[in-house]
Amino acid sequence: MSRSERKSGLFVVPGDRLGVIEEFTPGPGTYVEHGTIHSKITGRTLLDTLNKKVSVYPLVRTASVPQVGSIVSGQVLDVKSKKAVLRISQVGKRPLSGFFTGVLHISDVSPSYVDTMFSVCKTGDIMKAKVISDKNRTFYLSTAEKDLGVIYALCSRCGYVLRLGERGMRCSRCGNTERRKVPPDYGEAA
Ligand SMILES: [Zn+2]
Repeated sequence: MSRSERKSGLFVVPGDRLGVIEEFTPGPGTYVEHGTIHSKITGRTLLDTLNKKVSVYPLVRTASVPQVGSIVSGQVLDVKSKKAVLRISQVGKRPLSGFFTGVLHISDVSPSYVDTMFSVCKTGDIMKAKVISDKNRTFYLSTAEKDLGVIYALCSRCGYVLRLGERGMRCSRCGNTERRKVPPDYGEAA
């Protein structure tokens, strides 16, 4: 940020430079690295010229990037025995303008032991998950909480929507039964 740009109300994203610690005190929504103050979040700057303090206030309504703690949903693109790759398309109920890649590792599927990812989800399913890390711009996901998991699943034999029955997931068209990690309200939201 150049000298002339130092004012309140500027739109900033995580990592944007806000100034140096010789000039400003870092306020909420900022972090310091090598003496430089950066924005920690997506939001707008607030420059307190009296106290020489710079803060960033979150733009909740227009935030378009998943963050750690966000509940996201997306389609399963690929399933391997130990992980699944998702295309995140929604944060909460809000659709995203771009697409983000999410990775769900088998150890983050459930609090109990899961032997293979193939019993958790299949390619084409829609999953709801929580972002637990965003290291290296990859969103690592968890479905360990009870209300997370596959929210929309298709029969791998005939492509019809699977229903959650008393004995697991069942296709009401061809009778095929399959396994998924589903929340208890599966089918009610979709
Ligand atoms: Zn079927």
